Amino acid sequence: MQPRDLSDHVAYEAGRGIEEVARELGRDPSEFIKLASNENPHGPSPAAAVAIRETASSVSSYPKAAHADLTTAVADRWGVGDEQVWLANGGDGAIDYLHRAALEPADDVLVPTPGFAYYGMSSRFHHGDVREYELSRAADFAQEADAVLDVYDGERVIWLTSPHNPTGSTMSLTEIECLAEGTDEDTLVAVDEAYGEFADRDSAVALIEGRDGFDARDDVAVLRTFSKAYGLAGVRLGYAVVPAEWADAYARVNTPFAASELACRAGLAAIDDDEHVRRTVETARESRAYMRENIDTHVWESEGNFVLAAVGDATAVSDEMQERGVIVRDCSSFGLPGCVRITCGTEEETERAVETLNDVLDDLDVEPESTGESEDPDAEVADP
Ligand SMILES: *Cc1c(COP(=O)(O)O)cnc(C)c1O
Repeated sequence: MQPRDLSDHVAYEAGRGIEEVARELGRDPSEFIKLASNENPHGPSPAAAVAIRETASSVSSYPKAAHADLTTAVADRWGVGDEQVWLANGGDGAIDYLHRAALEPADDVLVPTPGFAYYGMSSRFHHGDVREYELSRAADFAQEADAVLDVYDGERVIWLTSPHNPTGSTMSLTEIECLAEGTDEDTLVAVDEAYGEFADRDSAVALIEGRDGFDARDDVAVLRTFSKAYGLAGVRLGYAVVPAEWADAYARVNTPFAASELACRAGLAAIDDDEHVRRTVETARESRAYMRENIDTHVWESEGNFVLAAVGDATAVSDEMQERGVIVRDCSSFGLPGCVRITCGTEEETERAVETLNDVLDDLDVEPESTGESEDPDAEVADP
């Protein structure tokens, strides 16, 4: 016997790890730095690391109190009711929960291209189909309601990523409101704010709750994660903030105890560790400014903890950088075969990445793309 027909399903391509690369190349792991998965260069919140150690002896129990306490802490942070917070196994788990709650078989979701692969994968798991709207490279991947509405055809869920992975662009709350306003009553606008902490933008939770001059809406949900700014990618903790009207659904769709005891305890410690987040955000801002300034090819403006650089042949450039000890993300699997994404590292890591990339561009004779904002945007051609 066989599993069901999975020919439409594709495997998720994660950024490559140091151990994996070192083993493959027969080299010592200490020769490498990894700037491929938007991880936190300062590690986890120290308070979270302590909490994880202290929790070790109680992991024989199912997480009940910790789950409830973290839900309340997250709800307090956003000023929403506890039942509006759907804790999950990473932000990815929250994507699944929103799909479980929203999709009937053969419902469609509308996702950005280039974009994060898991929206489409998750929709297919839940027997949904996937359509795409394009973020145009010629427009620097700007995110506007009209461009999405042009291709919108009654999909049940529309995914927005703000800041967007891998381009770093954002969408204003006014544009998100326009989009929600312009779509059917039964279309959920899901705003993935995995990188929200790094951006100079307010959260779309304001649209759900009707704050800052917006009317409250029941067709917007927000996704957040502890993986990036909080440095807890390895514990797998994220959540959705949903309208009060959606509150009942969680109990019916969640995998029991989806956020582990370790994850909940780590999250409780991390959510109060503002200093760690502040330092992380500051490092990312400095790093992305440095990369934009010093990389010898076009680097897009980014509100995330990464930048996207136009390098011609992304696979050749990322392979060669890896050979020289710097692991970055080849964006071919995101639908951008001419670009690499580089995570903001510490100052030292960032400098090494920039120097290595510039050397590789030089050695591979990559035609540099315009680097300045003031230059003619038409000069920015498609990948050779
Ligand atoms: C990292 C990321 C997530 C969530 O990742 P988790 O580790 O599952 O929390 C969600 N969306 C985007 C765009 C991301 O880059």
